[in-house]
Amino acid sequence: MKIQSVATPVHKPTPKAKTTESELVQDLVKQGDVTANADMTQLVKEYRASLAGEAPQQGYHSYEEMTAALHSLADRFPGQAEVVVLGQSAEGRDILALRVGTPDAERPKPGIVITGCHHAREWMTVEVPLHTATTMLENYSSDPASKQRVDNTVTWFVPMVNPDGYEYSRTTNSWWRKTRRPVSETGCPNLKASTGVDPNRNYWDGKPENFALYRPAGDTPCSTKDDFGGGKTSDNPRADTYRGPAGGSEPEVQAMLNLELNPANHIKGVLDYHSYGEMILYPYGSKELPADRLEIYRDIGSKINRSLGDRYDLKPSSDLYPTSGGSNDLHEANGIIGLTLEIGRSFQPDPSQIPATTAYITPANLVFIDEIAARYPQS
Ligand SMILES: [Zn+2]
Repeated sequence: MKIQSVATPVHKPTPKAKTTESELVQDLVKQGDVTANADMTQLVKEYRASLAGEAPQQGYHSYEEMTAALHSLADRFPGQAEVVVLGQSAEGRDILALRVGTPDAERPKPGIVITGCHHAREWMTVEVPLHTATTMLENYSSDPASKQRVDNTVTWFVPMVNPDGYEYSRTTNSWWRKTRRPVSETGCPNLKASTGVDPNRNYWDGKPENFALYRPAGDTPCSTKDDFGGGKTSDNPRADTYRGPAGGSEPEVQAMLNLELNPANHIKGVLDYHSYGEMILYPYGSKELPADRLEIYRDIGSKINRSLGDRYDLKPSSDLYPTSGGSNDLHEANGIIGLTLEIGRSFQPDPSQIPATTAYITPANLVFIDEIAARYPQS
């Protein structure tokens, strides 16, 4: 990838009216924003709105509204749900989880984590965890299956892993993907500083045996010529897929790892939401799973797909494109089932789509919770 000069604006100016659809498509392709199952008409519409600063700001939860929604659920269901602060983002926002279910230290229940919005512009991924948590709690007293899930597991819903990026995307540049930490020390004298890290390229748990999941063998620090996966994981601080100055360097990633790898939480499964592409992705981004693990992932993945009407593609993450530093790779390396759902066919569907989309996806979360509970029952 070519290193841009620091004077290059990150965001393009408002396009002139004559900017044609095909010019915008070319831009999107060049930026790597076109993947499988894209709704090109909608994607171009969103991109055009982004360039014009006209992306919808109403309809999707703001950070404040998401915070209020989690507290409201905890207030309405005090015996079943609690808001937990996992850490702080670079700009000082609390990274919040709604913990549904009551931990039992003597007889640990399986812990499950459902995350949205690692990537700022993937707005629908905030709405899905919120909707599933609401559904589980509201059905607690009327639906035996909901009651069983809430009573027998501890599920942590984290709708917004990257609140700084999300708010920036919502208010300033809707195409923004990364976090918002100013990276002043790149650790690379040849690479200029910039803002933001791709949090889903920054995962590393500090274990030497897992370091290659963050930086695969043969990838040289500070070199952008060998960027992994053809630039899908980059050492360039200006790239949308910047892996950060060091593995696990970002506070958002640390907050998630502290939750997920803390033995006291007994986390057995993590389902991470991204958009878009209608895909169910399993590890690894940079190598192959052993056969026994592959069998488990194929089994859970196909049951999730059935709940989605078998419309999604179930495949290893490396089939989409090779990456390193992704969260699911670290989960798998630590014995946790880690799956990604790439939902929808664009980044920011019209807000009128939120109810139908979240209702369509929530059964996938319920299947995941049931599958983890069946494999790792309360001891
Ligand atoms: Zn994403």
